[in-house]
Amino acid sequence: MPNTVCKECERFMIVHAIGVIVFEMADFGIYKIWSADEEQCPKCKRVVVSRWAQKPLMIHHQEGFQEYVQKLLYAESNEEVRIHRVVR
Ligand SMILES: [Zn+2]
Repeated sequence: MPNTVCKECERFMIVHAIGVIVFEMADFGIYKIWSADEEQCPKCKRVVVSRWAQKPLMIHHQEGFQEYVQKLLYAESNEEVRIHRVVR
């Protein structure tokens, strides 16, 4: 499978962090929770969120969603997990 490339530097990006969390945001708040990785350009150090899971970990209407969000926010406050917030 082809890797992510930094188009500015024309270098393959290198895996920087595995298993980061992404909150896909909507007008009302968090819509979906995803797992993804971060990749970094070895030259310019730009970081991108890539290698997304096939399916979201949870969607807002699922039972236990708010509890899961609270658990993730607590883990983030303890620097146990990195959370990105993405607006579509
Ligand atoms: Zn670069």
